[in-house]
Amino acid sequence: MIFLRKRLFLSIFIIFAFSASTFARLSLIALFSGPSFYERALSQQSSSVIYYTSRAVITDRHGVPLTDTESSVLGVIDTLVYEGGALFDSKYESYFESAVASHATAIIPLKARQENIKGLWCLETLTRYSKDQLAVHLIGSLNGNGDGESGLEYAFNSFLRKNEKKYSVSYSSDSAGGIISGLGINITGNAEPSRDSLILTIDSDIQKIAENAAMQIESGAVIVARVQTGEIVAAVSRPSYHPYDIGAALEKEGALTNKCLMPFNAGSAFKLVTLAAFLESGGSEFNYNCGGSIEVGNSEIGCYLRKHHGELDVASALCVSCNGFFIKMGLLNGAEKMLETAKALGFGASSELASGYFSSQGSLASKSELGFDAELANMSMGQGRLLVTPVQMAQMTQIIANGGVKAPLCVAVGTVENGVFQKDRCFDTEKERVLSPNTAQTICDLMETVSESGTGKKANPFCGSGTKTSTAETGIMNESGKYTVQSWITGFFPKDAPRYVITVLAENADPKISSSSPVFKEISENIARLENIS
Ligand SMILES: [Zn+2]
Repeated sequence: MIFLRKRLFLSIFIIFAFSASTFARLSLIALFSGPSFYERALSQQSSSVIYYTSRAVITDRHGVPLTDTESSVLGVIDTLVYEGGALFDSKYESYFESAVASHATAIIPLKARQENIKGLWCLETLTRYSKDQLAVHLIGSLNGNGDGESGLEYAFNSFLRKNEKKYSVSYSSDSAGGIISGLGINITGNAEPSRDSLILTIDSDIQKIAENAAMQIESGAVIVARVQTGEIVAAVSRPSYHPYDIGAALEKEGALTNKCLMPFNAGSAFKLVTLAAFLESGGSEFNYNCGGSIEVGNSEIGCYLRKHHGELDVASALCVSCNGFFIKMGLLNGAEKMLETAKALGFGASSELASGYFSSQGSLASKSELGFDAELANMSMGQGRLLVTPVQMAQMTQIIANGGVKAPLCVAVGTVENGVFQKDRCFDTEKERVLSPNTAQTICDLMETVSESGTGKKANPFCGSGTKTSTAETGIMNESGKYTVQSWITGFFPKDAPRYVITVLAENADPKISSSSPVFKEISENIARLENIS
């Protein structure tokens, strides 16, 4: 029984010993013991339990805490004399009943603070994660030992735990571990929140906007970043989960994965790379007559829905996202130039978004594989061996919108330890010119046309934008017997003097219903309202 009690203790303290934090105020409510005080006192010993660990706080760019924002009440219960009934959530009932059966002390989160209940002491504390926790995937979660299990909690674990202090509640107990009420309970030390913090580039207001808009997507990712600096101000992965309910998360496929960092089929948005390679090679005019499909080697590659696009120039080809046009352009660019441009724009390599926090590298065909026209044709329209992450898509868009200058994407500003700020090594790093100003400007202008009269129309906010969409076929059939698509949109806004980049991926979407474009529009318009952009 003692073993069982200890195990139950542990499971409850997964929540509280390590993720609960800040002010713990103890109020002595029950002062008198039950009738068996004398007997219990005979086998008196001292027990103590850690209820709070001061892990460094994670804040947004303005210093607004993203963790440790919600208080909760912890009840320390002398089960031998307690008569308060179930003041806690039903999920703790079996734990409580086991504690009652063994006369052990129960420590349980209560629904509300209670006064004057015999056998009950209330501790006030903050929980690491709130009920409506923001940026769940980015921040990550903790394991039962109080170490980061995923996200930035994992990447920055040693810093976040470095100056932690543990606070405990101690009491005189009998041989079963039950409180001897008459002897009172004590708190060791004065529990205080950590003054150390990890400051992110995230903006809480924009994160909320992005999370609300992303509710339209069942599965996928959203990234919002600043054009000039590459700072990620919002990052969302769908479906979401709650760090205190990993059991429920395991039942939702992909809920624990941060899809912002994961590789997916790219599709047409990658045609911007083909276009950049063409312009960087000195190309300007390009014309093609689309008859709905194109022959490459022994195979025939069709346009979306086999549409005959007719006579096209660069602007009209990008607007309708003609496969044949960009295959022709890609074959003209050649394998070497295509690879060089893709790599310069950040594809095929992992990004370190904060010290020790990496995105996947995705996948690029090798130079020898691209020696075959079929593979080069596939890459030119964003298919074949190519896999890209939302981070890479957002980085490419940042470079285009920033006049060709790459500001590496980042998520952490730095840390504050004992009052001393230390910049993160991935923040505000050296900017690098990747495309000529002319190439970047030409692509921006063309992306604006896509927003105004092309496939990006449904995404265009009132302040104007430049976008490129993708509808990558997955070959996977959904429940209603339709083939699903990877629906992407990546772009910048406002149209004049771009301030933000938004990349949206709606995974396994029904091509007619769920799409990334309405999410882009909602986010850009709400940010524009927030920042008075017209
Ligand atoms: Zn076409």
